[in-house]
Amino acid sequence: MKRVDLRKDDWQKDPELSRIKNRGQGLESKYASSVLEIIENVKKYGDTAVFGYAKKFDRVDLTPENVKVSEEEIEEAFQKVEPKVIDAIKFAVDRVRKFHEKQLENSYFVTEPGIVLGQKVTPLESAGIYVPGGKASYPSSVIMNAVPAKVAGVEKVVMITPAIGTLEVNPYSLVAAKLSGVDEIYRVGGAHGIAAIAYGTESIPKVDKIVGPGNIYVALAKKFLFGTVDIDMVAGPSEILVIADETANPEWVATDLLSQAEHDELAGAFLVTHDEKLAEEVVDALYKKLETLKRKEIAEKSIENFGTVFLTKDVYHSCQVANEVAPEHLEVATKEPFALLDLIKHAGAIFLGHHTCESLGDYVLGPNHVLPTGGSARFFSPLGVYDFVKRSSILYVSKEGFKRVSEHARNLAECEGLEAHRLAVEVREAIKIPIKLEE
Ligand code: NAD
Repeated sequence: MKRVDLRKDDWQKDPELSRIKNRGQGLESKYASSVLEIIENVKKYGDTAVFGYAKKFDRVDLTPENVKVSEEEIEEAFQKVEPKVIDAIKFAVDRVRKFHEKQLENSYFVTEPGIVLGQKVTPLESAGIYVPGGKASYPSSVIMNAVPAKVAGVEKVVMITPAIGTLEVNPYSLVAAKLSGVDEIYRVGGAHGIAAIAYGTESIPKVDKIVGPGNIYVALAKKFLFGTVDIDMVAGPSEILVIADETANPEWVATDLLSQAEHDELAGAFLVTHDEKLAEEVVDALYKKLETLKRKEIAEKSIENFGTVFLTKDVYHSCQVANEVAPEHLEVATKEPFALLDLIKHAGAIFLGHHTCESLGDYVLGPNHVLPTGGSARFFSPLGVYDFVKRSSILYVSKEGFKRVSEHARNLAECEGLEAHRLAVEVREAIKIPIKLEE
């Protein structure tokens, strides 16, 4: 792990800190043209293109008859999955649902004499969830994406996930989908899968919004199709930053850093501490533990690329450094973690205290694990119920309300030179005369 001493006046200009702050600026151009071509072909040729790409990239023969996962396959998945995992999925779904119900937003009205204004909250009619395929299974990803959509009231939640080499879809994902309330599942993935649910094809439905993580082809397809559909965010490699003091357990901190490093060779693992002794102990424990990991190769590369220990002046300085990095996951392993909460401005999720390891949040605590990466926690929030609703403004004026505002509206229309706007007000003002006569 790199050791970066920030105990200096111009610490914000440190080159290593700058490199980490700029970690979100990925190498996209290399993949852009092939993703754009896939999108264009799916738009033009629908199923033919989608099934052609599934054959090319995933070696599966998809047809209009087999692309949708059947109810029988979902039932079979329940037979294949161990009961303790089914219980864990149910436990997680329940906790995630309860937490997200707090995010439900109400419509509202405000009234004043002759005027009623308001905001109407409406769930999206449909949402698409991308679940990465390949060898790995991500039931937790299914839960974290589907449950908020269902809590928001989305009528049709469509999940897509690639079948690779065989038509079989990962049974853990199928069980999680069923228990999270997913309505339809299609065994298609990659950029062509994203384009299919963005435009709709003969056998795959179009959705209003696409959420969920995926590789570079998936991420770029979502980015390019933003506007045709809404998207959640463009997620990059996962990352963790731990603020620790002398009360932290070095082995626990080291393991938590590795729990992100094992995700991806480009994942970030950062320790920020004012305690030099602790820093040394964490690094020792991390390299020892690394040797024992099944995903050692990935974790090792990730630590080599981004693993960093930042030495700070004190715990308050550590919070400032964390804000500069704006990490996806921030663990506060200090004596009084709640006392630091006010100082922390930029982090996707804040894990307080020594026992609150990030993995608990990944799976079962309740808040969403789909979080902003690459420093985008400066302006993005975790995925939530609010991502699956939209708002419409409501406006009403009576004859009396009209009189209270019309003159100013007319004058503004005139100053903007928009004649019909002005006339729309004037024709109504003109009605005053006959109304007055009647009165
Ligand atoms: P994926 O489903 O995202 O992508 C696989 C698909 O990519 C294939 O099915 C294929 O159709 C397409 N593809 C492969 N090569 C291609 C090519 N040359 N051109 C066009 N398309 C091609 O699965 P993955 O590749 O295993 O990636 C999963 C990613 O999601 C990983 O980066 C993982 O870290 C991430 N992930 C993130 C979270 C999270 O919550 N942040 C959770 C799970 C997974």
